[in-house]
Amino acid sequence: MDKKIATLCVQAGYTPKNGEPRQIPIIQSTTFKYDTSEEMGKLFDLEAAGYFYTRLQNPTNDFVAAKIAALEGGTAGLLTSSGQAANFFSVFNICSAGDHVVSSSAIYGGTFNLFAVTMKRMGIDFTFISSSASEEEIHAAFRPNTKALFGETVANPALDVLDIERFAKAAHEQGVPLIVDNTFPTPVNCRPIEWGADIVTHSTTKYMDGHATSVGGAIVDSGKFDWFAHADKYPGLTTPDASYHGIVYAEKFGLGGAFITKAVAQLMRDFGAIPSPHNSFLLNLGLESLHVRMPRHCSNAQTVAEYLHDHPKVAWVNYCGLPDNKYYHIAKKYMPNGSCGVISFGLVGGRKAAELFMKNLKIASIATHVADAHSCILHPANATHRQLSDEELIAAGVGADLIRLSVGIEDIEDILADLKNALNVL
Ligand SMILES: *Cc1c(COP(=O)(O)O)cnc(C)c1O
Repeated sequence: MDKKIATLCVQAGYTPKNGEPRQIPIIQSTTFKYDTSEEMGKLFDLEAAGYFYTRLQNPTNDFVAAKIAALEGGTAGLLTSSGQAANFFSVFNICSAGDHVVSSSAIYGGTFNLFAVTMKRMGIDFTFISSSASEEEIHAAFRPNTKALFGETVANPALDVLDIERFAKAAHEQGVPLIVDNTFPTPVNCRPIEWGADIVTHSTTKYMDGHATSVGGAIVDSGKFDWFAHADKYPGLTTPDASYHGIVYAEKFGLGGAFITKAVAQLMRDFGAIPSPHNSFLLNLGLESLHVRMPRHCSNAQTVAEYLHDHPKVAWVNYCGLPDNKYYHIAKKYMPNGSCGVISFGLVGGRKAAELFMKNLKIASIATHVADAHSCILHPANATHRQLSDEELIAAGVGADLIRLSVGIEDIEDILADLKNALNVL
């Protein structure tokens, strides 16, 4: 029976047997004991499934990864120690030095830096295209050595909405997978695999954890991309891995398991970006109420966006739930129940007004964070983008006046009263 998303949030990934703990147990152990070396050897050869060292696999982490895979409608999932590690692994799992990736430019700043600076130093080239690029423009960015197309469902902080179907179609015509960072909507509001995405990533740090407790990430494979149909492009999945006794991942683990098994066997083994089992336990607590929290984040944000939109001291508001927003229609298509709780806006008095306004808020706290239960607010020109001049800020799409507000799940009347008080001071 196909379960609804709310049931999956609460129950997917872990089913206790008779007499076992109802809640996912925290297996806070680095290692696992065996009676014979032969049994251990089979695990090392990927001949048998089982646990031997938490850097590779841990039951708590696996239960929670399986829940996220179920939420996204994928075949396999992997937790990582951060969203950064998830995005890095998702690309590096199918790219090597000399390869090329096409990415939307409307992505998280950390991801942009990872791609444009750090992975470039590893010999992987990126071409950045507009999130609203036409099919022709997407195709034009491809090269013979392009291995993936990457985008973010709702970009942090630009809030552009990705046309997932258009990107997926272009990727598939080019014979590469579409990787989508689905952090902001979460699978409660959008399931990119249903629109053609092949790999989905998350910073679970945000709404999934939802309480600002644990940095983490996740990768989910749809199991739909046929690596063998493009075997020349993906030798890592379709030819023997010498570091695992000649295993061919796509053969041994099938299309549903190959991508994630390879990421564990090679990237976790060598880079070690694993979450602590305790953090995964906390993440699961967040997931259990994700389907209850997301609608509240969205309705609070919608009310706040409308309030700010009509306020004379507010110069502009960017939220795809507003009918005059550039992404309103596309957001309605991909996220009919709402997108997320993050809004950006500018005040009539620009940078100075932003500083004064934020100083006077009592409910929304100034924090370098988004997407948890608490309302929080950031003035990037004074924080994450502090080193940039006003001209550079505009070029980065983050004007000096831009305020990013992550609307929490407090009472909407209190949130509005707080904004009203702070705006009255201006
Ligand atoms: C925060 C964020 C990341 C990075 O995640 P961390 O958990 O901070 O490493 C990646 N993508 C998006 C969309 C994010 O918001």
